[in-house]
Amino acid sequence: MTNARAENCDFCEIGHDGLVGGDPGLAARQFHGDPGTELGVYADIAPVKAGHLLLIASGHDLTMAAALAGSEERWRYVDAVREAYLRTFPGDGLTILEHGSGGMGHRHDCIEHAHWHLLPFECELKEIIDDDLRPAMAAGHVRKSRLSDMRALDDRYCERNYLLYLDHGKDPAPASPPARVWVYSLETSLPYQQYTRSVGYRYTAGVKGSPVSTLDWDWALHAGGELVQRTMTRQHEFAGHVDAALERTVSDAPGAMADTPSILAIA
Ligand SMILES: [Zn+2]
Ligand SMILES: [Zn+2]
Repeated sequence: MTNARAENCDFCEIGHDGLVGGDPGLAARQFHGDPGTELGVYADIAPVKAGHLLLIASGHDLTMAAALAGSEERWRYVDAVREAYLRTFPGDGLTILEHGSGGMGHRHDCIEHAHWHLLPFECELKEIIDDDLRPAMAAGHVRKSRLSDMRALDDRYCERNYLLYLDHGKDPAPASPPARVWVYSLETSLPYQQYTRSVGYRYTAGVKGSPVSTLDWDWALHAGGELVQRTMTRQHEFAGHVDAALERTVSDAPGAMADTPSILAIA
């Protein structure tokens, strides 16, 4: 975990007023914040669907692997967010995408400051990513690894350039169904600008049956609007679910920790 701030980084400006990160600004789009862990959840300014949230760590880490490394409190917060998400947006499932840009000299994604995209999909995006990256995998520029569980995104990935994929299904109960986690280690650029966002847009466009051009998912064209407003209506419900989950894990914690299953673990 680092606390350094980077100049001209929207996500380093969390908590400051103004139109940071689009309009409405990031502070106005906060779903939940945790002063203890300095993690927070925000509505994405250019959602691919209602319910598109971001989990952001304060401190300008380049990967969530670095932001979460060695912090039991931060992982517990992640678990509470996972549960709250599935309770707030029931029936949609949860897919997490991250472009970790550690060790990369150039960028091909939105903002390099470590963040996860929390997306209301069950498992639909996996195939798109595999199709996108298959040529690079065949050429040896991308290596795909399955992780045993979420916490296997450990120190080894802090400085790497990677794409993280996790899908969880729809049940908010711990490890039911178990999460599936893959990391694609990248020695090449991702094939589209704002790659994580493009995956959701292309899936959604495909479902509607209309083709989508690269410009159609440019964030500036989609920023704000009705999808953000619809997402924001769930803000208080989500915050209540996070608080309830945190309270439960804290009160369960003494003496019960050893038996607590890793919520994001594969059974
Ligand atoms: Zn930053
Ligand atoms: Zn992003």
